[in-house]
Amino acid sequence: MTAACIFRRIAARESPAEIEYEDAEVLAFKDIYPKAPIHLLIIPKRHIESLVVLEEADLALVGKCLLVARKLGEAYGVAQRGYRVNCNCGPEGGQVVYHLHFHFMAGRRGS
Ligand code: 5GP
Repeated sequence: MTAACIFRRIAARESPAEIEYEDAEVLAFKDIYPKAPIHLLIIPKRHIESLVVLEEADLALVGKCLLVARKLGEAYGVAQRGYRVNCNCGPEGGQVVYHLHFHFMAGRRGS
């Protein structure tokens, strides 16, 4: 199994993950190699390879992912202090896993 499809497998519950949020369309789980005290990954369950191939039809789903970021900020008690949400796009953007995902990082300045 390649890294390229691991998030699709997590979304299908075929691979384990520490899930922090789930609804019908979006999943959030802990990054296996956290780069901040709180480091979660927010993914659409439906496979979208990357922001690079995003289409108009995907916009509501991406909006839901960002709304989940807001909910996670509240759930973790970091909404006031702040957090970072980022999306790595393509090889030079640092994307390693080719299933659209948003990093949610909090817990230290600049995280
Ligand atoms: P990217 O560089 O593609 O934006 O980030 C991929 C992220 O996925 C990395 O931070 C990496 O630690 C995380 N990751 C890779 N494989 C797994 C996995 O199997 N499970 C979890 N929970 N995170 C993973």
